[in-house]
Amino acid sequence: MSALVEIRNLTKHFRIGRGQVVHAVDDVSLDIGRREIVGLVGESGSGKSTLGKTVLGLHDKTGGSVVYDGETLPSKYRPPDFQRHARMMQMIFQDPYSSLNPRMTVGEIVGEGLKLHAKVTAVDVREKVADWLRRVGLEPDHMSRYPHEFSGGQRQRIGIARALILGPEFVVCDEPISALDVSVQAQVVNLLDELKESLGLTMLFIAHDLSMVRYVSDRMAVMYLGSLVELGPANRVFFAPKHPYTELLIGANPEPDPRSERSRESVAIRGEIPSPVNVPDGCRFANRCPKVMDVCRETTPALAPVADADQPDRLVACHLYP
Ligand code: SF4
Repeated sequence: MSALVEIRNLTKHFRIGRGQVVHAVDDVSLDIGRREIVGLVGESGSGKSTLGKTVLGLHDKTGGSVVYDGETLPSKYRPPDFQRHARMMQMIFQDPYSSLNPRMTVGEIVGEGLKLHAKVTAVDVREKVADWLRRVGLEPDHMSRYPHEFSGGQRQRIGIARALILGPEFVVCDEPISALDVSVQAQVVNLLDELKESLGLTMLFIAHDLSMVRYVSDRMAVMYLGSLVELGPANRVFFAPKHPYTELLIGANPEPDPRSERSRESVAIRGEIPSPVNVPDGCRFANRCPKVMDVCRETTPALAPVADADQPDRLVACHLYP
């Protein structure tokens, strides 16, 4: 599969007061193939959203590069670049309550991108908005209503229509279901899945719910304290995790087992994720890892293929896999 998005050594640090630096994303490299969905998981504060936003250029990079369809993306966008960029890649945001302007009608929200980034008449905008409202399961006459008149699931559908109306090929979905009721989460995931198939989308799907990520993703990437610690086919990572953090993360988010009356027991990960301002030397997971060794506190393990001929596409950053 040829890569549409090549993320190379991407780093994003934020300067805060007194010369301190937040290491939100450190040296992340990841290829995303055309029409591939890569699920990105990790605890809150692991840097998932910052990575997604930095890939899209919503944050300036501190280091590294993003190559899109063979073209290195600029660090800063000027208006003509920005318009082209908006037609190539978009983001679906986590919170459908705060990401929609309450003073704009649904028609204005969904059609705004077309007005800003494409040369279209007002009639074309109306027609395209009506078409997109239908595609996401809403009605064209919802165009004249305001966001507060809709449920959370419907608002996320409006957000999806807004993101996709420009025809992007690459979409970052930043926890698109975590603010929704459990009863509507599956509907929104199914809609994204259908749109992915019909439009041939490539996605970076960021989420907390590992079983949902396993369901929608081709590959799963696991992030801890700004770094990738495991990457591989979603089913293999979920059912046979290699990195001790992935193992514990999956234990903390067990998938309901339909063959058993009881769900698998949830296991909490001991200890706190260290501050991204004081990133520890060596393996960043060492203070919480039940398998920690002396070498772990001294040498940072690189994300590298595991020595397993059956799994050439499996990468792990851990000294257990030399
Ligand atoms: Fe645990 Fe060491 Fe592997 Fe880090 S490198 S995950 S501390 S075994």
